[in-house]
Amino acid sequence: MIENQQLAVHSKFPAMGTTIFTVMSRLAAECGAVNLSQGFPDFQAEPVLFDAVHRHMCAGRNQYPPMAGVPELRQAIVDKVAALYGTRFDVESEVTVTAGATQAIFTAIAAFVRPGDEVIVFEPVYDCYVPAIETVGGTAVYAQLKFPDYAPDWTQVAQLITPRTRMIIVNSPHNPTGSLLTAADLEQLAALVRGTDIVILSDEVYEHIVFDGAAHLSLSGHAELAGRSIVVSSFGKTYHITGWKIGYVVGPAVLMAEFRKVHQFNVFTVHGPSQLAIAEYMQDASRHLGLAAFYQEKRDFFRRLLEKTPFTLLPCRGTYFQLASYAGLSALPDRAFAEWMAREVGVAVIPVSVFYADGRDDRVVRFCFAKKEETLLAAAERLDKAFPRPA
Ligand code: PMP
Ligand code: GLN
Repeated sequence: MIENQQLAVHSKFPAMGTTIFTVMSRLAAECGAVNLSQGFPDFQAEPVLFDAVHRHMCAGRNQYPPMAGVPELRQAIVDKVAALYGTRFDVESEVTVTAGATQAIFTAIAAFVRPGDEVIVFEPVYDCYVPAIETVGGTAVYAQLKFPDYAPDWTQVAQLITPRTRMIIVNSPHNPTGSLLTAADLEQLAALVRGTDIVILSDEVYEHIVFDGAAHLSLSGHAELAGRSIVVSSFGKTYHITGWKIGYVVGPAVLMAEFRKVHQFNVFTVHGPSQLAIAEYMQDASRHLGLAAFYQEKRDFFRRLLEKTPFTLLPCRGTYFQLASYAGLSALPDRAFAEWMAREVGVAVIPVSVFYADGRDDRVVRFCFAKKEETLLAAAERLDKAFPRPA
C-alpha cells in the first residue's frame, strides 16, 4: 500500500458507501451462501454467441468501432424497437450503443442535468440514479412507489414538479419491486410533462421480462413521450451476459446529439467484436421474445418453493426479482436480517431499505431468481431448515 500523509483528499462523497450488490455478493462468497442477492444469471448464454465474438476477433474487427456503435448493431436495435413498439428510430442519429445501462444512465444524466436542477426519481430507487444526479450537482426529488403494490402516485409527482425539474427517471419493469407501468401511467406522465422541457429517462433493461401475458409498454412506443425520452436497455439482462456490459439508448435526434456529446469523451465506444456478435444474435427474435416465458417458469418455480416458508410473497409482474416480506418471522431491520440470512441461513438477499434515501424499512428483502433450478432448490432447502413451518 502506498502512503501519502501530505494529501488531504476532501472526498466529494464522504457519505457514499459501496454498492449493496458488491457488498452482498462479497458476503455471500465469504460465507458460502447461495447468492440470490446481486442480479445476474448463474447459467451460461448460448455458445453460438461466444463463437461469434471469437470469429469477429479473428476476422480483424479489433480496432475502434464508430463512436455511436457498429452500424450492424444499431440497425438490429432499430429493427427490434420498431417491431416491438412501433417507432422506427434513425440508425445514424437516434441510437447509441453504451457500456451497459449504468453508463447510459450516467451519461444521460450528465448530458441534461445542470447544477441546481431537480430530477424526480421513484423510491424504492435503483441504486445508480441518485449518485449520478449528485455527481453532476443535481438534486434528487423523491416520489414514492408505495408498498405493497408499488404503483406511482401521479398526484404526488405533480406536486413535486417545479420550474427546476429537468428530468424524471422511470423504470419499468421495476427493480426491485417487479411492478410495471400501465398505459394509464404513461398517459398521466405525458399529461404532467406536456408544455414543459422535462426530459424523461426511461430505464427499460428488463423490457423482455414481463409475466402473465402483460406487454411491456416502452416509452419509445408512446407517440408523445418518445419525443422527449431517452430509453435505456441492456443486453446483459436479455442475453444472460451481464459481465459484457453492453447496452444502448434510443431517443429523438435532438436529445441523442446531447447524449453523444458526453458519451464521446466519457466512453467513446464499446467493445467491437461483442457488438458484432450481438447484432448477429439479435436476428433471431425468438431469443428475446422467449425470455418472458423462460423467466416466468423460474418465477413460478421459485414462488412455489418460497410459499412453503413463512415469507410473504409480494406480486412480481416483471424483472427477475421477487420481493418478500419477513415481517412475520423477524423483528430485525432489513440490513441486519439480510446479513443474518447470509451468515446463518446461507442465502444472500438484498435488503430493500437501501433503495430509499431515508432508509425506510418495510421488512422486505429481494431475491434474484435468475438461477438454475438446482441453485433455487439449494436456497429453498436452507430456508426450509431455518424457518420450519409449524406442523
Ligand atoms: N437499471 C436497472 C434497473 C438494473 O437492474 C440494472 C442492473 N442490471 C442496470 C440498470 C444496469 O445495467 P448494466 O449492467 O447493463 O449496466
Ligand atoms: N442490476 C443488478 C441488481 O439489481 C446489479 C448490477 C450491479 O451489480 N451493478 O442486482
